[in-house]
Amino acid sequence: NLASLPAMLERSAARYPERAALHFMGRACSYRQLWQDVQRFAAALQALGVQPGDRVSVMLPNCPQFVVAFYGASLAGAVVVNTSPLYVAPELTHQLQDSGSETLIILDAFYPRFEEQNLPGVKRVIVTGIQDALPFPKNLIYPLREKAQGHLTTVQSGGKVHVMQALIRAQDAQARPRTVPLRPDTLALLQYTGGTTGTPKGAMLTHGNLIANTVQARVWMPEVQQGQEVLLAAIPFFHVYGMTTAMNMGVLIAATTVLVPNPRDIGTLLELVQSMKPTLFPGVPTMYGAINAHPDTPNHDLTSIRACISGSAPLPLETARRFRELTGGANLVEGYGLTEASPVTHCNPVNGEQPEGSIGLPIPGVYAYVAAPDGSPLPPSEPGELYVSGPNVMAGYWQRPEESAATLPTRAGRTWLKTGDVATMDGEGYFRIVDRQKDVIIAGGFNIYPREVEEVLYAHPAVLEAAAIGVPHPHRGETVKAFVVFRPDMQATDAELQAWCRERLSPYKVPKLYEVRGELPKSAVGKVLRRVLAQQEKTAHE
Ligand code: ATP
Repeated sequence: NLASLPAMLERSAARYPERAALHFMGRACSYRQLWQDVQRFAAALQALGVQPGDRVSVMLPNCPQFVVAFYGASLAGAVVVNTSPLYVAPELTHQLQDSGSETLIILDAFYPRFEEQNLPGVKRVIVTGIQDALPFPKNLIYPLREKAQGHLTTVQSGGKVHVMQALIRAQDAQARPRTVPLRPDTLALLQYTGGTTGTPKGAMLTHGNLIANTVQARVWMPEVQQGQEVLLAAIPFFHVYGMTTAMNMGVLIAATTVLVPNPRDIGTLLELVQSMKPTLFPGVPTMYGAINAHPDTPNHDLTSIRACISGSAPLPLETARRFRELTGGANLVEGYGLTEASPVTHCNPVNGEQPEGSIGLPIPGVYAYVAAPDGSPLPPSEPGELYVSGPNVMAGYWQRPEESAATLPTRAGRTWLKTGDVATMDGEGYFRIVDRQKDVIIAGGFNIYPREVEEVLYAHPAVLEAAAIGVPHPHRGETVKAFVVFRPDMQATDAELQAWCRERLSPYKVPKLYEVRGELPKSAVGKVLRRVLAQQEKTAHE
């Protein structure tokens, strides 16, 4: 039984010391080196005054420093605050303040974006260059970028800014941090919910929550071999989906984790697949879709890939079919989850029935049901809010007792998480996500689930991506507007799209308005942001 995430890394380092733990930009470091640098960094943080329970914000892309920062801060007893590198100044300020972070670990390239800011409450900033890859030999260390370097020398006199690499090097190779007791209920992570809806709130995830979810996902993949897999980590670690299914999964199974700093660069990703031969590739539908559509894909061998979990948004059937074909039959299974559950709660069986459009079954240890508005269970096939419960469900929202209580009701002796998603369960216990409660379009008194409309558009041969939202309508309240991105060299007229939809949807669900875009707004994990489209629509008509 593992009590903490650092204990999980320590175990892999003890069993597989010489195995490559991380692979980044053509270089590798072993589990032994990684564990050593994690301990040195933990000691360095303590020497700087970081106390158990302190919040440490980490704003890095997928790189070795992320892993060292996360496990090092955890070992020092701190709570990591995942911070999206896409944040602009006000978003970063809000998160630093809300979490009360006194320490910020940030990539040099991001730092100048905030240099005019006073970074309120932050006592220490630790900067690292992307090529400053930590566990690698000294002669491979690259200098910080010039702009960050210039800034650093001016502010360094105040003692606030430190260079991550130098902090680690100042510690003896055998340095050990002061032991801080870490228990399953010790807080490990504040993960601010993604922002496709409302104000970001910090979900409090404990060591027990994160370990439970990594183990739950591991149990779901019976063919995974300890100490033998190569895991392609293209989904960002700064979101809990990547943190659990890529970073922590890699550590749990002692995989060689191949770090991809920019998942949008499909050309590089294809090269990495060809050269590193990953066996596991957790991803998101837009990523699999982009690989399917990329012109270089046919020239690359993707057949090393055996298992993929797709989560965060519905996986269009066509995307899954094409990706399976390209990989020579990889098991690409759709799962479901949310930040508040660390995040995975459901998944389709890797070797078993995968009913069309289903998110599968609750994973081991997860209880789930579909609830009526009063919280009571509904019979099979009836849509209602999905409730889940399990060891992976958060302790609550950081400093928001009312929202925590409202989201985590107690029923029949268990604490449940209200997911905010409308779902159904069939007679066999398979779940389907109908849509997000908040995105339901109400047109002329009818409820329309945008996802149903999007599925129809995705099935059109010319459509690469689609999103449907409700826009105000004088008589009907709302009407459906569709946004589409066409495949390269393909297109369709509004009338053709409308005719396509009319054949497949009841009249009230057929979009009346169409807009063609070069791309759709997406979250950091690649999820299409309907909320941003709705906002743009609103501004355009003001
Ligand atoms: P919020 O702003 O509410 O936090 P978010 O998208 O940023 O939104 P996440 O926790 O990242 O929050 O995403 C969880 C949501 O993603 C789920 O509640 C669900 O709506 C959606 N989702 C995840 N997996 C699937 C799936 N397989 N099918 C459909 N929807 C999914």
